[in-house]
Amino acid sequence: MAAATQSTSSYLFVYQNGNSAAFLFFVIALRPRFFAVVIGLALMCASHFTTTHLTGAFDDVTYSGIITFYLTLSIFLAVSAYFLEQKDRQNFLNQLRGSLLYRQLERNAERDELTGLLNRRSLARVGEMLWNDAPRLAPVSAILLDIDHFKRFNDVHGHIEGDACIRAVSQCMRDTVDEASFVFRFGGEEMLVLVADREPLQALAMAERIRTAIERLGIAHRGLGNGCVTASLGVASALATETTLEKLLQNADAALYEAKHMGRNTVALASAPKVGAQVA
Ligand code: GH3
Ligand code: MG
Ligand code: MG
Repeated sequence: MAAATQSTSSYLFVYQNGNSAAFLFFVIALRPRFFAVVIGLALMCASHFTTTHLTGAFDDVTYSGIITFYLTLSIFLAVSAYFLEQKDRQNFLNQLRGSLLYRQLERNAERDELTGLLNRRSLARVGEMLWNDAPRLAPVSAILLDIDHFKRFNDVHGHIEGDACIRAVSQCMRDTVDEASFVFRFGGEEMLVLVADREPLQALAMAERIRTAIERLGIAHRGLGNGCVTASLGVASALATETTLEKLLQNADAALYEAKHMGRNTVALASAPKVGAQVA
């Protein structure tokens, strides 16, 4: 009988220690949620205490020693699981913050501070994307815009209002172009729209819509008497396979020069019969 009790207690000892070691490994390696650990520990303790008690293999002193040992171990495991979970959460939040910050910086680096439009730095990347994505026989178009008599606007209204005017014109362009277009602040009070897969006449119509929308803003230009702010636009279109971004911009710039020459508040198309403001 004594031998049987001895072998039962040895068996229990090995079983319970094996169980505890497995649980310890489970908590450290798999890092379960804190509540899962607490529930697991409660179940483990309940099963250990019940089986130990039911077998009657240990006297009261040994039994209370076992209970103390397992309770201490459980508290230690629960506290460790709690702090591990806190640390994991903190690491996850830090990683999330880092990647959001990186994306924000990337986005800001491509945006013009005053207008929120794409800046010159992003022009090469967008150009490359349009050229790569454009089907072989699809045209790409550039619309170059310059605000008319803007030096005079600054002289009369001041630079702060000048900045506000550039912002209003930029927003107006954003609201007027379609979602496939990219709008850049090309420099000073010059803006650029790049769009792929539009026929030259469609690009011309878009430029005309922009011109009219700016005129309709009705921003007072006291440098022109009772006049309001207007803009001139040059449009160039070509097959993606037959032109480069640089060449397209040169042609749009030449057309813009023509538009200024034609009296401003006008749209001109490169290498085509000149198109005035009244052409939609
Ligand atoms: P034109 O009709 O021929 O275009 O005449 P213009 O007076 O507009 O001539 P131009 O395009 O050469 O003038 C550009 C002016 O734009 C000069 C500069 O003072 C002003 N400008 C450029 N960048 C800014 C800016 O960020 N803010 C303000 N307020 N003015 C700017
Ligand atoms: Mg200019
Ligand atoms: Mg100008």
